[in-house]
Amino acid sequence: MQFRDLQKQYQVLKKDMDAEIQQVLTQANFISGSQVSELEEMLADYVGVKHCVTCANGTDALSLALMVWDIGPGDAVFVPDFTFFSTGEVVAARGAVPIFVDVDADSFNMDAASLERAVLKVQEEGRLKPRVVAPVDLFGCPADYDQLLPIAKKYNLLVLEDGAQGFGGNLHGKKNCSFGDISTTSFFPAKPLGCYGDGGAVFTDNDEWAQLLKSYRIHGKGDNKYDNVRIGLNSRLDTLQAAILKVKLKAFAGYELADVNAAADKYTARLKDIVKVPEIPEGYYSSWAQYTIQLKDEEQRNGLQAYLKGKNIPSMIYYPKAMHRQEAFAGLDTQKTELEITEALCRTVLSLPLHPYMEDAEIAEVCDAVTAFVKG
Ligand SMILES: *Cc1c(COP(=O)(O)O)cnc(C)c1O
Repeated sequence: MQFRDLQKQYQVLKKDMDAEIQQVLTQANFISGSQVSELEEMLADYVGVKHCVTCANGTDALSLALMVWDIGPGDAVFVPDFTFFSTGEVVAARGAVPIFVDVDADSFNMDAASLERAVLKVQEEGRLKPRVVAPVDLFGCPADYDQLLPIAKKYNLLVLEDGAQGFGGNLHGKKNCSFGDISTTSFFPAKPLGCYGDGGAVFTDNDEWAQLLKSYRIHGKGDNKYDNVRIGLNSRLDTLQAAILKVKLKAFAGYELADVNAAADKYTARLKDIVKVPEIPEGYYSSWAQYTIQLKDEEQRNGLQAYLKGKNIPSMIYYPKAMHRQEAFAGLDTQKTELEITEALCRTVLSLPLHPYMEDAEIAEVCDAVTAFVKG
């Protein structure tokens, strides 16, 4: 069994995929081919924002946003403590300080009360200027924007939505990657919409920021690539990846997103009385980057993972370590509140195999194994 079956997906998409790839090889416009701007239009349209600017990966997408806003030394950026390293890394890389905020035990996403406490603490200390909040749509589920956006407004924070795992999800029908002043996503192969290598995108409704993003992604270009008006990055999505994503986006919007939701529902129906299953609140729709259950304690979680491994069922621990405990952030004074929920989640979470091409028999096999282990 595969954790996320990209081989099966390729077999289903092979005919269209091979034709698109062959066309790129024949045209030989490997950088900035027409497929890139075609894809950007499709993505902006799908998400429902004015501008999509693609780039080399989801980490650069976050960096580009911080560059546009000139975030740097003396600035505080509020980031969930329970996320992938990038969300905090890009902040520290620009010389700003990531301030880690606790998450909600049911949704895994940034907790609004913890955010407000952290902002007040930073204000009170007076050393750093609160500038940005970066909620993550963890495991595919939109963050709690109903509560987070008013807090951002109250404290005059820019909102950077890290939608690396959330492409395709929505809240009250409004799509992920449209909640931030700037929003980002990743096309890393295992993300809900993945390419065949690294890729990313930035979304915004702001015309001026879109122009700046296009400059920063190509060496801070002015009128052209050899006119450089600011220090930027070399961060483009290449033509081959854009062509691949055009095929994948059709399948994603056409049936994959619905199918992965159906698979997740089957897990929930069979596991809800056995373990703590992920809860998608009313009005929320997840793109299911991960299906993450919670066990009683670390011993039970590790025992279950070993038991599944013995049955050739892959599982992953997202995430084993809270951001504020990462050695890379040592000495940055990143903690302003208690981060107990994140600490507990790191001990008890386990993500099960999930993808749109999963068969009922595979779901049954995983559920039977989880049930057998937990019931002893
Ligand atoms: C994957 C991921 C990123 C980084 O994306 P890359 O394309 O791998 O650089 C950023 N944030 C979160 C939450 C992610 O899961």
